[in-house]
Order: sequence, then C-alpha cells, then structure tokens
Amino acid sequence: MNVVEFIAAKRDGRRHSPAEIEGFVSALLSGEATDYQAAAWLMAAYLRGLNASETAHLADSMATSGRTFPFGHFGPHSVDKHSTGGVGDKTTLVVAPLCAALGAAVPKMSGRGLGFTGGTLDKLESIPGFRTDLTPSEFENTVRAVGVAVAAQSHDLVPADGLLYALRDVTATVDSTPLIAASIMSKKLAIGCPAIVLDVKVGSGAFMPDLESGRALAQAMLDIGREAGRRTIAILSDMSQPLGRAVGNALEVCEAVETLRGGGPADFAHHCLLVGAEMLVASGLYSHPADAGLAAQGALGDGRAFAKLEEMVAAQHGSAEALTNDGLPISQHVLAVSAEKAGYVESLDAREIGVAAMALGAGRKKKGDSVDLSAGIVLHAKIGDRVEPGQPLAEIHASDASLASGVVSRVRAAFAVGDAPSLSPPPVYDILRA
Ligand code: URA
Repeated sequence: MNVVEFIAAKRDGRRHSPAEIEGFVSALLSGEATDYQAAAWLMAAYLRGLNASETAHLADSMATSGRTFPFGHFGPHSVDKHSTGGVGDKTTLVVAPLCAALGAAVPKMSGRGLGFTGGTLDKLESIPGFRTDLTPSEFENTVRAVGVAVAAQSHDLVPADGLLYALRDVTATVDSTPLIAASIMSKKLAIGCPAIVLDVKVGSGAFMPDLESGRALAQAMLDIGREAGRRTIAILSDMSQPLGRAVGNALEVCEAVETLRGGGPADFAHHCLLVGAEMLVASGLYSHPADAGLAAQGALGDGRAFAKLEEMVAAQHGSAEALTNDGLPISQHVLAVSAEKAGYVESLDAREIGVAAMALGAGRKKKGDSVDLSAGIVLHAKIGDRVEPGQPLAEIHASDASLASGVVSRVRAAFAVGDAPSLSPPPVYDILRA
C-alpha cells in the first residue's frame, strides 16, 4: 500500500474505499505505516472527517485486526458497555460487576485515559497486581468463571485500536466523531455481544461539548451497531461537571467500591443504576428498566455486586483485600482548595478539573508516559451546593507539594460561585435505541 497517497487522499478531502481502509489498517499492524504517518492521517481524518461508510469500514477493519469472538459467543445474556469518555466517569467499575452479579455475562474491553478524561484500565491498575493485559483465552476463561472481565486491547485483541488510540491521545485528534465511533465500536464488534449500551457524554468534560454533537456521535455508533445486528442503546448523559466526587485513578476505585457497597455520591449511584438497568434489559434478563433498577439496587445493598468485583479482581490477579484494607495507592500531599466567598456553585467546569488532574500526573502528556495512580482531585461541592468562605471546594491529591500548589488556581477557577441558588443540569438528556 502507498501510505503517503492514502494520507494525501484524506488531506485533500477524498473518500477512502473499504479496500484502502483495510490496507491502511494492515499496514499499521505490519509496521509498513509508521507512527508519524498514522499521526498525519489521523489529523487529516480529524480535519476532513470520515463519512458513515468510511467510519463503519474503519470500525470493522480495526475489529478484525486481532482475534474476534463470534456473535453471541459469551451467551444470550451477554452485554457490553462503553462510555465515550468523561471526567470522574468510573461507571464501568460499578455496572460491569453489578450486571454480572445479576446473571449477565459482561466481557468488557476498555481503554486508557484519553486526553483530559480518565480510562478504566488505568483505574483498575491502581489495584495492586491487577492485570488488564489478558490473552484472549484468559479473558474468555474469566468471563466464563466469574461472569465479568475487563481487559485492554492487546497484540491479540483489536491491536489497531490500541495503536491509533495511543497516537490520538497525544496528537490532539481525540474529539472527532468518526474516530471515536470507530474506536469504540471496533472493540464492541470484536467481542460479539448481542447487546451494547453506550454512555455518550455531553458537556465540557466530554469530547462532545453539546447535545447536538453528542447526538451525532450516538447516531454514528447506533448505525454501526444496527448494521452489525447488535441491539444498541445510547444514553446521552451530562458531563458538564464531573460524575461523582472523585477524579483520579485510585480515588475513583475507592468511590466505585463505596458505591458497590450501597453508598457513594448520589449522582454517581443514580447513574450506575440507570446504566445498569439499561444493560440488564438489553441483555434480555429483565423486560423493564424499573424492575431491573430495583434488582440492581438490591444487589448493591446486599453485597452481591461488591462480591462480584472482588471475584473479578482476584481472577485478574489483583489484591481484592486492597479494596477494603486501604491498600490502594495514596498521595503524600493533600491540599484543600477553599471558597473565597459565600454563595451557590453555579457551574463546575469538568474539563478544567480533568486538565488539573492530568497536570497532577493522573493522565498522560505523551505516548507511553506512566501515570501517578494516586493523584487526583476530590470535589467537596458540586453545582447547586451552598458554600461559605473558607469552606473546602475540593481536595488536591499529589505526590509532590509543588504539583499540588501548581493547580490550586485552576481548580478554584473551575467553580463559579454566584448569589442565586442554581439547579444541577439534568443527569440524562435522552436515550436513543437503534
Ligand atoms: N473511548 C474509546 O474507546 N475510544 C475513544 O475514541 C473514546 C473513548
């Protein structure tokens, strides 16, 4: 394949044929297309766009770039889930074991942090010993034995997404509707679940800043899902402020554990129940979201959901004891950011909090960077809350005092405090079904 011609075609706004896309993905895997060529093509695709057919062929070529599981391989009640990315979005850590505890099979391939958003794999890797680099047979055996596994793309599973994802993270080419749609759906197609629930995040802390662009992304993924014969649902949910209170890998695992044990912040617990209920209905185990929601609430309240997480952690070589014995990484420095005046939190810019968490080391600045698993931010106030001068708005967790003090003004500026009581944004804008 002539990679330079392929890049030039997209640079000039031409449409790729399915064979060209397939050729590029093969060239990427064989090394015939270098990282810098892939990065150049990503920027061309970012600027020029991909149409629906190019997006679907990219998703397909990436899905088949490694081992795939046949349709329905994990059983009739298998269900997959994916978020388009957000700040403090630890939903998978709760809903995957929760649905497995209620009888669904949840084979989940997740991603790492992307841009200012966190990634499920980084979060899980804050559990000592936890392995996300499962081989296809380890992945399959864990799902069969436990009901749930969360693994990374690898040389064997959707390797093309692994390569492009890492490049997008560091080349400012993340927030592209077709690139996100193809990336997410490639992982979903490879796993073969008949049901897919997509959590499409909208707002400053998401890649889609407004409802219109969120709908376009949801539709692009629903189209790919329908074409592939999957029951696909897209929940358009708010990401104008972070989800829950914890932002940062180990901090988010702690919050997910609290939620799996029946506690956790109300907005986050509510979101998990909604997404979990949609997954349980999509899996065919329940007919109505209300019944599924009640069952999910029961499994959070009586310990079944948390026990399932412990089982999954142990099966993936992690220390389940660390979840309850303060065994997760902890930062040396904790610095409070306090309110300067009295009032109500009018807005809380999720992107700014995500960028500040990244600056603390919770995300990557360049490909291959290591992540500080303990770093992050815990929010003490959210939209609508009343605050008094000196009251903590947030807590910064960092391994270095200068890193912590370096983001104080950014974190404080993320909060707009006004005189009038303000309402929280709606947690969910719409649910679209293919
Ligand atoms: N999650 C993914 O897996 N891919 C993206 O491009 C964005 C979020």
